[in-house]
Amino acid sequence: MQMTPPAAARRTSFNPHTPSRGFVSLVGAGPGDPDLLTVKGFRVIQQADVVVYDRLVSADILALASDKAEMIYVGKKLDYHCVPQAQINQILVDKALEGKRVVRLKGGDSFIFGRGGEELETLVEQNIRFEVVPGITAAAGATAYAGIPLTHRDHAQAVQFITGHVQKDGQEIDWSSVAQSNSTLVFYMGLKQSGYIADKLITHGLDEQMPCAIIENGTRREQRVFRCPLNQLAQIAQQAQSPALIVVGSVTSLHEKLNWFE
Ligand code: SAH
Repeated sequence: MQMTPPAAARRTSFNPHTPSRGFVSLVGAGPGDPDLLTVKGFRVIQQADVVVYDRLVSADILALASDKAEMIYVGKKLDYHCVPQAQINQILVDKALEGKRVVRLKGGDSFIFGRGGEELETLVEQNIRFEVVPGITAAAGATAYAGIPLTHRDHAQAVQFITGHVQKDGQEIDWSSVAQSNSTLVFYMGLKQSGYIADKLITHGLDEQMPCAIIENGTRREQRVFRCPLNQLAQIAQQAQSPALIVVGSVTSLHEKLNWFE
């Protein structure tokens, strides 16, 4: 694919003639289907000297990098970071200070449960320039491919993206405001916590028959969508594998009518 970016897009990207203390592009790779990468992401990956990437980035996207690019894997498996965050930050700093064009490549969007903000704070401290190239976050991509509109005038006027690591991070969310918000709820990293999530929502007033969907491997060829009422979520979640999103809300019932991908 050969694409010439519009001038406005070019202006904000790396300019090799500008003296600086390195440059990092923080790029969201999208949820799985490599065609969901943005044109800007496509271009900066092709130009990168170093690509520092996570587990959920597809092989087709990594293959866009030049043969000469240094590829550094810093991904994590489930709950286990194979490279500690401080070390990832240091790699970005070191490579940028060597004058390399660094692409920090993450699944989905870097600012949605992606620690993108933390990494950029380190770059700011070190006076390293950067840009942020947004990606399609899993909630947008997976629901689009599952035929589940996140909002719909007859169903939901708002949507919330919520971490499923509710207990682990020790930051309990305000369950009564979530359960009574009348919005579509999308839980990231929630598969293992699905029983806890369903219990909390029901205890705080959400109808136990509220339709739910679990979208596994959203936007990938192997995508699967499971549907069930809220009170069966934990049971159905046992059949699903990571990466998966839990979507709670009556919009999920539209999957039957609007499913186009599977
Ligand atoms: N920054 C990413 C999210 C990282 S957290 C984004 O914006 O999408 C990782 C979680 O994202 C997974 O546990 C899962 O809940 C969700 N996820 C990522 N890719 C997914 C996919 N293809 N299908 C379903 N869920 C996905």
